[in-house]
Amino acid sequence: MKIGVIGGGQLGRMLALAGSPLGMQFIFLDPAADACAAALGAHICADYNDHEHLRQLADQVDLVTFEFENVPAETVAFLSQYVPVFPGAGALRIARDRLNEKTLFQKLNIPVAPFAAIDSQQDLDTAIGTIGLPAVLKTRTLGYDGKGQKVLHSVGEVKGAFAELGSVPCILETFVNFTGEVSLVAVRARSGEIRAYPLVHNVHEKGILRLSVPGDNHPLQKAAEACVSSVLEHLDYVGVLAFEFFEVDGGLRANEIAPRVHNSGHWTIEGAECSQFENHLRAITGLPLGSTARLGESAMVNFIGSVPAIEQLLLIEDCHLHHYGKAFKDGRKVGHATIRSLSKERLQQQLKLLQSLI
Ligand code: AMP
Repeated sequence: MKIGVIGGGQLGRMLALAGSPLGMQFIFLDPAADACAAALGAHICADYNDHEHLRQLADQVDLVTFEFENVPAETVAFLSQYVPVFPGAGALRIARDRLNEKTLFQKLNIPVAPFAAIDSQQDLDTAIGTIGLPAVLKTRTLGYDGKGQKVLHSVGEVKGAFAELGSVPCILETFVNFTGEVSLVAVRARSGEIRAYPLVHNVHEKGILRLSVPGDNHPLQKAAEACVSSVLEHLDYVGVLAFEFFEVDGGLRANEIAPRVHNSGHWTIEGAECSQFENHLRAITGLPLGSTARLGESAMVNFIGSVPAIEQLLLIEDCHLHHYGKAFKDGRKVGHATIRSLSKERLQQQLKLLQSLI
């Protein structure tokens, strides 16, 4: 089975690492000459709207998937004429646009904090009247890792904020005073079967994920699964999807969905019976889904900007290193490590050792 992947970053790389033992081969289409997934498959170095190269990809693979949601909808529509694409264009259209996403949550009765569409500074001034301060202004598309958003604390900061984000379509959201951030990674098979991993507690710094720790029978697991299932079913989704939530007053408020394998699911490589990467591939190729059960206790730490000395990391016995082979750069995710231990005490002790190296 040959899989085409739009995007050749670390998510593509980890898909290939999971698919190789199943006999799968990979071709990545990515405009970056140094795409890190290229070490694990063929690489078509081309833009996402380059029809000639997209056609070349479609002709060589059995199906196509993608590793990031900012793929132009037109690219998916073009590819779909020649080869099955999972998840489909409908899911992308929703997930790449924060307004579409939040409107869908409302429609499906998924709890979400108040929001408003913003197309001008005047819209923003009016919306602040109803949403209040503090609030968060975000671009509707192309935002990631805290980019394309601004927290507005005072009336002074509201002035000119629309221009500061580039005068592009935005969404204004209530600033949520959350007690924690959690995410649920789930997979839906072509048959409609859904399996979810345990709810994960996430810690962000400057808008970038730093630490993910899967829970054990989290009290909000069932509520999160209900939200994810309604989205998966509504979109007739095939593959892995991640749903990020804020925890507020012992309940959930939806933040966003990612129509792909997700950073908060990297712990599943060592920490679950079948990883999110393998389950995504199983789902899109029509194979039976694997177990999402945990194997002991785990925690995943992202390496941002640089990877600590490998010989130090590997002295930590329960540490599993993933070095993406990317050039080091401030604010860039260049690797991660997962600690998997047999007890919570041991996990904390090993995690401390790991964090002392960062
Ligand atoms: P996002 O790109 O929407 O996931 O935002 C990145 C991070 O910014 C989130 O993980 C939160 O830590 C923070 N954030 C985003 N939206 C809000 C909000 N409405 N209220 C408070 N914090 C937020």
